[in-house]
Amino acid sequence: MARPKRPQQYYDQIKDKFREQRDLRLGYRPPGTDQYTSEFSGDLAKYAVDPYATDVPSREPLNDEVEVLFIGGGFSALLTSARLRERGLESIRIVERGSDVGGTWYWNRYPGAACDVVSYDYLPLLDELDYVPVNHYSRGPEIFSHCQAIAHKYNLYDLAVFNTTVTETRWDETDQLWHVRTDQGDVMRAQFVICANGTLAKPKLSAISGMQSFAGHSFHTSRWDYNYTGENLEHLKDKVVGIIGTGASAVQIVPELAKVAKQVFVFQRTPSSIDVRDDWPTDPNWARKLEPGWQQKRRAKVLAAVENSLEKRAAKGATSPEEKLKKQENANIDYMMRIHKRIDEIVDDPATADALKPWYMFMCKRPCFHNEYLPSFNSPNVHLVDTKGHGITEINPKGPVFEGKEYALDLLVYATGFEVQQTGIYNNIVGADGVNLQDKYAQGIRTLLGIHTAGFPNLFIMGGYQASFQFNLTEMLQTQGDHIAACIDYVRSNGHHTLDVTDEAEEWWVQNVIKHRGKTSRSEECTPGYYNFEGNEQRRQDGNYNGGFRQYFEHQGEVREKMEENFHCVPKKN
Ligand code: NDP
Repeated sequence: MARPKRPQQYYDQIKDKFREQRDLRLGYRPPGTDQYTSEFSGDLAKYAVDPYATDVPSREPLNDEVEVLFIGGGFSALLTSARLRERGLESIRIVERGSDVGGTWYWNRYPGAACDVVSYDYLPLLDELDYVPVNHYSRGPEIFSHCQAIAHKYNLYDLAVFNTTVTETRWDETDQLWHVRTDQGDVMRAQFVICANGTLAKPKLSAISGMQSFAGHSFHTSRWDYNYTGENLEHLKDKVVGIIGTGASAVQIVPELAKVAKQVFVFQRTPSSIDVRDDWPTDPNWARKLEPGWQQKRRAKVLAAVENSLEKRAAKGATSPEEKLKKQENANIDYMMRIHKRIDEIVDDPATADALKPWYMFMCKRPCFHNEYLPSFNSPNVHLVDTKGHGITEINPKGPVFEGKEYALDLLVYATGFEVQQTGIYNNIVGADGVNLQDKYAQGIRTLLGIHTAGFPNLFIMGGYQASFQFNLTEMLQTQGDHIAACIDYVRSNGHHTLDVTDEAEEWWVQNVIKHRGKTSRSEECTPGYYNFEGNEQRRQDGNYNGGFRQYFEHQGEVREKMEENFHCVPKKN
């Protein structure tokens, strides 16, 4: 559809308002990520407890050796394991904090959990498992089951260790293996370690004054307490429920609470943009006609589409970068104004509708898609508490307090998100020469492809910084998994024992990351959120590789073409 022609002044005024709203938020909150806490000890320890791990069997500490060890049992581990099995690797162990595989989909079992990426693209290994998702967008339980199915197909349960948190991963020069220690007293040795602990895995809470004093029940969205709410939330019929946060998790939860709870208070700091969710059951006729390898073909098309758009962009070479940027910004503003219009059409109360309007550029925050979230605010039992950018800063024994008003609750749900892309630095990772990964990163993240880091032989990082960022995360993870499996295969089939990236190859990638970041001031202009480190200034190398997904994929291939140039590959020392 052709976009309406509007004077530039219209767009400039909206951009001014975006700026105003961003500054207002930055002024209210403690700087950057300091406003959050993910150190769940003392009174906060209850927020980390796994509600899904029942009857955890006790076991003796392990002291053994495997070939490949994954820290984390989500999609990163599962899809990489599949590739390793295809290459004949037998000794694969997953060490997982939860009581099953699944990662995000193990933890996030809140009511309404579903994925916003088209299921036929998001669920990995559909060809291999001969599975077609039941809907255009998969619900949480189906994705969790798919994870379990992958683990069964590739016999990953055999050596897996659950309810176990890795505390230290240390390179041992004597036996040239990684020694992986856990909170269960294990010392597992492994030739290869893959940090597969997820991009948004560690829950965080907004550090709100008085939160420990709350006398009602409370939990984080990724630790949903069905014992309290009932499987179908039936225990909430006579309960007053509050939810802090309005990101993608809350957007899916609020409609479910609205259907059942006596009262629902939604404490909003910044609204999300909510677009239509175009969902439908998979057409059985379409599914029946799918030929083997259909998902692989779909994935190849995604890369081809990126290529086409690059060609188109090149053809538009006559436009100046400034003009291009303006055009893109104006299109983004048109999108956001359509989101505003949709709110006005759906939400009955004009004041509530206004408060639900997001005033920032499209993609400054993670866009959401839901058909029931906005209508929820027309229900008499649902109340939006718009904190106008302040956020909740006080909680007393009865509940949150805002502008002197106390909101007495039975249940308080924290939908306050997760630590972002901290992959590889949760546990104490100590490489060759006793260097700690966190100390190395303190001078600025240094990797090759976001996967390898010099001085840490046979260690691979998935979903971390300096890799490409994709809305469909599994697509990106699959390329990393394929790359890692190929690297391990290279080591094994060439009589080597270790592979360690050279300083030159690492430096080349760091410069590549720097070159592609910060081309625009977009990140600083955005309202704070996890996409821009909550407004904190960031070194240019400490983020994702922004050179494009296809380029990232191609660079992986180029790196593998020159293994001996990019890595020190050495046989086992005697
Ligand atoms: P987010 O980090 O996106 O949201 C946290 C929310 O908490 C924000 O709305 C934030 O407000 C709010 N907040 C923090 N502190 C306060 C406070 N003191 N008072 C009021 N509000 C506060 O976490 P989510 O769990 O929602 O989502 C994380 C990510 O997980 C998503 O971005 C997405 O990538 C993924 N996800 C995907 C889903 C899907 O596919 N459908 C579903 C769920 C999650 P503010 O914006 O002002 O910072």
